[in-house]
Amino acid sequence: MSELHRPFNRDKGMLVVISGFSGSGKGTLMKGLMDNYDYYSLSISATTRQPRPGEQEGREYFFVDKDRFIKMIQNDELLEYARYVDNYYGTPKSYVEQELAKGKDVILEIEMQGALKIKAKYPDSVLVFITPPTVEELIRRLRNRGTETEEVICKRLEKATMEAEGIEAYDYILVNDNLDKTVKHLNYLIQDQHMRVSNQIRFLEDIRGQLRANYAEMNK
Ligand code: 5GP
Repeated sequence: MSELHRPFNRDKGMLVVISGFSGSGKGTLMKGLMDNYDYYSLSISATTRQPRPGEQEGREYFFVDKDRFIKMIQNDELLEYARYVDNYYGTPKSYVEQELAKGKDVILEIEMQGALKIKAKYPDSVLVFITPPTVEELIRRLRNRGTETEEVICKRLEKATMEAEGIEAYDYILVNDNLDKTVKHLNYLIQDQHMRVSNQIRFLEDIRGQLRANYAEMNK
């Protein structure tokens, strides 16, 4: 008797959206996920914001000017885009499509407006919201980053206050209190999605086909 495709086999890669308050530690979390598991691809966004010290073109972001960003929108090169604290951010489409086709789970680390656009376009995508354990911790992390002015920190806090109202649109909320633990937790959470029946159509077809064949054989 032929073996069944195991349910954990990947019919296709999954689109995973990670959002979180500025200062939730999601950047470090993404690095942990990429360093520990080889079945993820991290989408690199385009942005009109200036690079922070230490950031590299094509690693954290593709840094573009506003004219280029508008061209990308016009040429339908972006899966989604949003304005966030005076700058534009968008997800290049071609990389995401290419990695999904390879069976990779593609991580988009994007803010809420973009997350909602992705969910509307791709209802099977998984939306995860990351928070620090307390608001005090969030403010401390924002200040400790040391790369932002007090005015920008204030804008980011205002944004967090607004974003807190929209978290119900997400599928999961994850408290980032311990990096290693949260990386593992996030990995389980994403991989469990592959066992959803809607992601196992090939397995279902396989088991149905074999059942029918065996039944037909017995009734000869
Ligand atoms: P930062 O300037 O701190 O790197 O990012 C600011 C916000 O923009 C973060 O919440 C980040 O997740 C979000 N962001 C980064 N890339 C994208 C993108 O391609 N699309 C959208 N909608 N948001 C993004």
